[in-house]
Amino acid sequence: MKTDPSNPSRREFLATTTKAGLTVGLLGTAFSDLLAQPHQQVVGTGFTQTPLPYAYTGLEPHIDARTMEIHYSKHAAAYASNLRDAAKEEGVDTTQPLEQVLGSISKYSAKMRNNGGGHYNHELFWSILGTASEAGPEGALLKSLKTSFGSYEAFVGQFETAAKTRFGSGWAWLLVDASGKLVVSSTPNQDNPLMDIAEVKGTPILGLDVWEHAYYLHYQNRRPDYVTAFWKVVNWKAVADRFAAATT
Ligand code: MN
Repeated sequence: MKTDPSNPSRREFLATTTKAGLTVGLLGTAFSDLLAQPHQQVVGTGFTQTPLPYAYTGLEPHIDARTMEIHYSKHAAAYASNLRDAAKEEGVDTTQPLEQVLGSISKYSAKMRNNGGGHYNHELFWSILGTASEAGPEGALLKSLKTSFGSYEAFVGQFETAAKTRFGSGWAWLLVDASGKLVVSSTPNQDNPLMDIAEVKGTPILGLDVWEHAYYLHYQNRRPDYVTAFWKVVNWKAVADRFAAATT
């Protein structure tokens, strides 16, 4: 693979960044520079939309282009815009990672909770999707899935149940909890496991949007079919990057 020295990979970035340096970077003005780097969303999420790493047609036929276009350019764009409004109204520093706000979301308004969650969740969602592939998890992530759930298939079953049984609008998650264990959960609306109000807290590494706007044009009422198709377009390399960042 060609390496552009002005555009280091996350691995190179982490290799040359101490934990102390990373913390300074995340909390200081250097965070905006960090956001310009590839895979920035692994270590911190900004307050604006990052470009989709694939075309609207890139997830066909499992997630159709029309759904992707409306979902990214209308729904997710509105969360990002409303989040910036809320940040302005509530005096939130938008050069800090959004994760910092989500961790103490109970101190903010419902507008911040809904749109901060909405923006974070979609940024994560776009990043863990990719062109249809038969590839599954491997390495340390696969090992941890087996340790935490018994088998990869058992994990898939739990995650699908969480996604299919979430009543109304919400998300299904695979997250790393405080003890480093992988756990499946689901949240209502645009809540997520980073929020201090979440029933199951931790760092999400995989999420599935089960709002009707995410699937209704193509699947109508057949949410289970959408949930099954989701596995075809998971970018397991991106999930593994998030797993590594959450466990090191
Ligand atoms: Mn959505």
